[in-house]
Amino acid sequence: MSDFELIAGLEIHAQLMTRTKAFCRCPNRYGDAPNTLVCPVCLGTPGALPVLNREVVAQAARLATALGATINLRSRFDRKNYFYPDLPKGYQISQFDHPFALGGHLVVNVAGVEKRINITRAHIEEDAGKSMHLPDGSTIVDMNRCGVPLVEIVSEPDFRSPAEAGAYLSAMRELLRFIGVCDGNMDEGSLRCDANVSVRKHGEAGLRERCEMKNLNSFRNVERAIEAEMRRQIEIYEQGGEIHRQTLQWNEQEERLIPMRVKEGSDDYRYFPEPDLPELVVAESALADIRSKMPELPESRRLRYRNAYALHVEAVYLLGGDRDLSDYFERLMQRGLQPATAAAWMQSEVQRILNEQEWNITQFPVSSDRLADLVGAVESKRINRATGRDLLRTMLTDTRGVSDLIAESGAQQIQDTDHIRQIISGILSANPGELAKYRAGKTNMVGFFMGQVMQATKGQADPQLAKDLLMELLAQ
Ligand SMILES: [Zn+2]
Repeated sequence: MSDFELIAGLEIHAQLMTRTKAFCRCPNRYGDAPNTLVCPVCLGTPGALPVLNREVVAQAARLATALGATINLRSRFDRKNYFYPDLPKGYQISQFDHPFALGGHLVVNVAGVEKRINITRAHIEEDAGKSMHLPDGSTIVDMNRCGVPLVEIVSEPDFRSPAEAGAYLSAMRELLRFIGVCDGNMDEGSLRCDANVSVRKHGEAGLRERCEMKNLNSFRNVERAIEAEMRRQIEIYEQGGEIHRQTLQWNEQEERLIPMRVKEGSDDYRYFPEPDLPELVVAESALADIRSKMPELPESRRLRYRNAYALHVEAVYLLGGDRDLSDYFERLMQRGLQPATAAAWMQSEVQRILNEQEWNITQFPVSSDRLADLVGAVESKRINRATGRDLLRTMLTDTRGVSDLIAESGAQQIQDTDHIRQIISGILSANPGELAKYRAGKTNMVGFFMGQVMQATKGQADPQLAKDLLMELLAQ
């Protein structure tokens, strides 16, 4: 076991889902032909003037509110200057010493254990273009992404394991989708993250030098890269070496870190106030409006599902994290289903179908009302659970009412005591050998007789009722 512990923080870049870019009217869209969504403003042609898109501020405010951050009523834009082929302006409009929001937190679940991750700041900035390095060694640049609005969320160095960082990224994606400000598609670059990693001896105060890893674009990469960087630093310290601040890139294919450059301090970016944009002023009344329109958030839903509904932690995390799934579940509650029953159906049958079909709940063809009817029929023992599962499959393509489907399938559960008793009597007299074994003390013959009863009733006998009657007749 190592004497060292991990100290890591994440910077998450979330692309906002606005119709147009941050400072111009070019569409904010993914997948168009390269360099077709550009104008003088997002390319930074001299004389072009940026105008801030109000929707960017509204979405950033929703996110900051959801994180419990404090929104600065006055913030300011700065120019972050650096030279890179995908940044034709030579600077990025960002926020530096007066960011949009400060503080906030997110609760993450790491293998069943919850941890609160604190957030330092969240600021608004624009994206740069995208360089594509071709096999022949040349590089082409697509400027469509120039000026696309981002929120950068910087966490405190609160991560003590790579798994915590992965869980945080996952929880952040879930929240962004929940409040509808970012689609979270990591393979399209809508959500990217940088990790700052250092290590120190257990019990040591203060922080040691850190290194930064850029553009980690999957959960797996975040965890693997942090793991590798942690090992690298520990090894250097154990051999008596020093860590020098630098920026590293994670090579996914080779699973190793490649140094990119010696890290600039913020001085190297030559930040200065963006002269073409006024101070960003947010009205208190606008914030009140945003707060009043916020949906109930995952953290609060989970607390309620646990405390009021007494659901298990797996159900709490599954149902609380996705807004559509959560709303669907709540509609089942409104139809009077027991929380545990509804959650069990959502976790097993519904989830199985969603996984098989690669659907999300909005694509699930069975409405919450119809599912409530079906589950109600199982709960009231009109049909048994196996029949319910089969009928749910039928309902994916058959839109008739649940009662009609039950009637047509002939799957109505047999509740008729006399009828079931008759069947059991018949089975007992047809199997004298088995009956003798039971009487001689082989109590597991009950399973054999139950099997016969269910076979004789094509699975439609109410199992509990049949069992009770069987025991009654066996005792005679
Ligand atoms: Zn533009």
